[in-house]
Amino acid sequence: METTPVLQVEGLNKAYSRKGESVRAVNNVGFSVHAGEIVGVLGPNGSGKTTTLKAICGLTELDAGTVRLDGNDIRLGQQTAMRRTGAVLEGARNVYWRLTPVENIVYFAGLKGLARQEARRRAETLIERLSLGDYRNQQVRMLSKGNQQKVAIACALVHQPALILLDEPTLGLDVDMVRGMKAWLRELVDESRSALLVTSHDMDFIEAICDRVIILYRGEVISESSVDELRRLYAPQKTFVLQVDGHLSGNTEKALTRFPWRVETNGASSRLCLRTGELDILSASLAILAEGGHTLNDINVTSDTLEDIFLHTLNQNLNHNVSQTHTQSGHGGITKSMDSEDKQ
Ligand code: ADP
Ligand code: MG
Repeated sequence: METTPVLQVEGLNKAYSRKGESVRAVNNVGFSVHAGEIVGVLGPNGSGKTTTLKAICGLTELDAGTVRLDGNDIRLGQQTAMRRTGAVLEGARNVYWRLTPVENIVYFAGLKGLARQEARRRAETLIERLSLGDYRNQQVRMLSKGNQQKVAIACALVHQPALILLDEPTLGLDVDMVRGMKAWLRELVDESRSALLVTSHDMDFIEAICDRVIILYRGEVISESSVDELRRLYAPQKTFVLQVDGHLSGNTEKALTRFPWRVETNGASSRLCLRTGELDILSASLAILAEGGHTLNDINVTSDTLEDIFLHTLNQNLNHNVSQTHTQSGHGGITKSMDSEDKQ
């Protein structure tokens, strides 16, 4: 049975004007999120993630498009939409620095219409779930960035919103904090059956908690699929690294040119690298090496991570655009750092 999604976004368009020029931040973006679902929004800096989230909270005036919460246009019921939503936006002061975690949570609960007793009860639950007990009586400004982020998220979740929006919640957090966040966010969503839309640069984080992933690039959705689908599409790609004794003989090297191995020789050994989805290449290459009398010293196989997949999708898109517009090779492709598209 098809249920109405908690969030439906259709045809979002937003352009900012900068130095007299119009900059398109979001271009015809559409997607939906169902109850109990975690959807990740990935994309390099400037791709429109924050603008999309702000539009969903009603904080940005759109040029075109509709945002529906439980099937209702948010413009027709801002108050109700606010009460059904909890958001932590990137870079915003989401909490009061001179209040303690408990005071903050109770205060925001009041704003969202919870009675005082209920607010205190929820605050205690969240303090415990987010392991903030040791800091409950300290002013938020004294806490670590990770604990401040936890307080902000607790404030956003206190009224058990139908829709949770988190913009870069892992930014600046250490590995342990991120690991913890993966666990409690997933648990909270599973329990409350909220819909969670989350942006992040952290691939591991997205891979671990999301059901679906939307990739934004230059304001457009260039890919939307489940994490499993993304992996299925690209994960057959593996990188093989073989280490053999000595230099490759001329015949072996020639025979191997059938496949796109990258061969490096250093000192007494040779290293062969190849990224492929075809396992046949590996067995054929091993046979060639054996025939040439080369001893295999080591073999290393790694599967593509979600980050590799993301970069691959972006590069495909770039290549497509470049060949369409016949521009010169200004784009060297996108490499490992997802921050490579600087804010212009
Ligand atoms: P992301 O969150 O993915 O980094 P943003 O939504 O912040 O992307 O930005 C999308 C584009 O819109 C960028 O080119 C950015 O520079 C521009 N932009 C965002 N906010 C403003 C603003 N208030 N004024 C002018 N341009 C903006
Ligand atoms: Mg942003």
